[in-house]
Amino acid sequence: MATKKVKEQARKVLKDIFGYDEFRPMQEEIICTLLDGKDAFVLMPTGGGKSLCYQIPSIMREGTGIVVSPLISLMKDQVDALTRCGVKAAYYNSSLKSAESKIILEKFEAGALDLLYVAPERLLTKTFLARLEKIKISLFAIDEAHCVSQWGHDFRPEYVRLGELRNIMPDIPMIALTATADEHTREDIAGRLALTKAKRFISSFDRPNIRYLVSEKRQPLTQVLQFLEDWKGASGIIYCLSRKRVEDMAVNLQRHGIRSAAYHAGMPGRSREKVQDDFLRDRINVIVATIAFGMGVDKPNVRFVIHHDLPKSIESYYQETGRAGRDGMESEALLLYGSGDVNLVRRLIENVENIDQRRVEVHKLNSMVALSEALTCRRRVLLGYFSEEREEDCGNCDVCLDPPETYDASGLAEIVLQCVREAKGDFAIGYIVDILRGSKNARILSNKHERLKTHGHDKTINVDEWMSILRQLVHQGFFTQDVSRRGALTITKKGRMLLREKTQVTLAKYQPGIKRKLKRFTQGRNEALFKKLVVVREQLAEQEDASPHTLFSDVTLTEMSQMSEVTDQALLRLSGMGKHKFEAYADVFRPILERYARDKAAAKGSNSGQALKLMAKGPRPTDVQSHTWALYRKGQGLDAIGIALGLSEKTVLNHYISLVRAAYHIDVPSLVGDFETVMQELDDADPYSSLSQLKQDLSVDLSNEMFRLVLAWREAIGVN
Ligand code: ADP
Ligand code: ZN
Repeated sequence: MATKKVKEQARKVLKDIFGYDEFRPMQEEIICTLLDGKDAFVLMPTGGGKSLCYQIPSIMREGTGIVVSPLISLMKDQVDALTRCGVKAAYYNSSLKSAESKIILEKFEAGALDLLYVAPERLLTKTFLARLEKIKISLFAIDEAHCVSQWGHDFRPEYVRLGELRNIMPDIPMIALTATADEHTREDIAGRLALTKAKRFISSFDRPNIRYLVSEKRQPLTQVLQFLEDWKGASGIIYCLSRKRVEDMAVNLQRHGIRSAAYHAGMPGRSREKVQDDFLRDRINVIVATIAFGMGVDKPNVRFVIHHDLPKSIESYYQETGRAGRDGMESEALLLYGSGDVNLVRRLIENVENIDQRRVEVHKLNSMVALSEALTCRRRVLLGYFSEEREEDCGNCDVCLDPPETYDASGLAEIVLQCVREAKGDFAIGYIVDILRGSKNARILSNKHERLKTHGHDKTINVDEWMSILRQLVHQGFFTQDVSRRGALTITKKGRMLLREKTQVTLAKYQPGIKRKLKRFTQGRNEALFKKLVVVREQLAEQEDASPHTLFSDVTLTEMSQMSEVTDQALLRLSGMGKHKFEAYADVFRPILERYARDKAAAKGSNSGQALKLMAKGPRPTDVQSHTWALYRKGQGLDAIGIALGLSEKTVLNHYISLVRAAYHIDVPSLVGDFETVMQELDDADPYSSLSQLKQDLSVDLSNEMFRLVLAWREAIGVN
């Protein structure tokens, strides 16, 4: 058993090298298991912190830890990140030139590495295995272990042979890790890797920092743009069903000034790599992709995932949304749910020839539809699907945050169905709504549908509401939409039942827009300063030819932006600031933080009435300006002074400007609504832009005089 002392050592490595104060759930137990020389099988969701589970024992145990990972593209990032923490790590795969390989193997043989990342096909060559016999190995870690299973979503033939390792080197502890939630696959993995006796660590598959949102799909582009408004400059992925939709959406986003790119399997490998790399390096913010994108992208600060189209199963949905928020910060998953998509996917499934497989896929789709239409907590439905029962609602999904209002729509539903029946023909939702609203457009007249009983049934319900009602009725199975006949509606058995037996129908009230009554994430950070820090990180990463997040995570920068004092101790306390990184980078960030703290103190000092020294930048005040000052000192406001002296507000403000320039203490921060924001935005502004441009770019609307007053104030307190 790992002793108390060993645990303390592990904690010290966690703090000194990785810069973290606490272990996440199960990390410590897993680490201790390996330190005891035993095997472990770890099932933990994405972002749970699997890497540390083998990295820390590799560092602590004698010898080199061998990490098997299927994704060559990820190895460099992982090794970069470790190197920056001062860990001796390297990778050995086909991307290396032979001279580079040689150097790495030499280091490895000399025992100079804590960790070596190896591609599976390389590990299992005779020569490499022979090498292993001569070198001290601390452990084997099999990352993305689901790749060994044919049941899993990413089977890799080269993984199958990894099971042999257990026989070849039975004394070296082995750890297999996966984020696969499906039980069937888990058992398969354990069997294939000969890890049936390994200690198992199964954590909850909940991703509490992901907020699940489902919105009825109406005008997807507008809905997406509206959603992106809240995530300006953040990284995200938008999944679409087809290449065409991917390309259209990417072009549209670019037109709206969003740094985005398309990604799908039809693109040449080179372009795909470039897009992926640009995304990892924060050169583009939004990737619009088919599901071909994701595996092999380990970007911790993906803030949102949008499903423009319906995923085929909850498994896919969970996996794709799971790419958000690996760093543990608040993130959102938005699904645009349209009944047309359900039909599209259904038709794709109908083409599946094997009956059993078809049945499975239909079941999976139905579960996905049920999740999308759930009127109860989405997270409960989601986790329930993976056999994880929850007692409580999550409080962080659209249903919990903004419970749908429902109403008895039995009468309405009946009218709609009657209308579809009366119209007798291949008509889609839009046309039926036209009838119900009493339109007399050419098509209706030529079909003589203005004579139907249901024509003009209720003109007070607007088009969007009607559409929503009809879609919900489709979702609830009262009729189907036939994609091959341009969405023509056909009444189902359930629909006919309703007309016969008057069953009760409950619908959710129509809600325009994405449910944005929800509280927005504030993340409690200082956005202006955070953005500045991000830029610095980007520059450093460019210089070092690495991904920005291998230097510092968004978590570290967020905490940095919230620091109240800039001392070495405070910097070392930041999550993710190990000693090595502190040595290497603290000096780059310190001056920025210090300047920011100074500016802020200046602004605050004046707010709280503390003596703040203003510097004279202009001539002494004139007589009339002195009158203004006298009244101001007596506590009179702008209007009062104006009335007393017979001056307009504008003129009084001009006096204030002169007074501030002459170092008279007018409390400008209290005069400007949201002063801090204005100050921050001016701090961030391009120093070469014109004053009128500067003013225009502010998010706060200021009059010309107010704006000049702020500038005078900044000059007087020594911020330029
Ligand atoms: P996984 O491989 O399970 O998806 P990672 O190992 O990539 O997860 O970890 C996800 C993020 O959480 C990383 O940014 C990592 O540095 C961070 N992390 C891991 N363990 C801790 C911890 N104990 N405290 C704080 N952050 C942690
Ligand atoms: Zn919920």
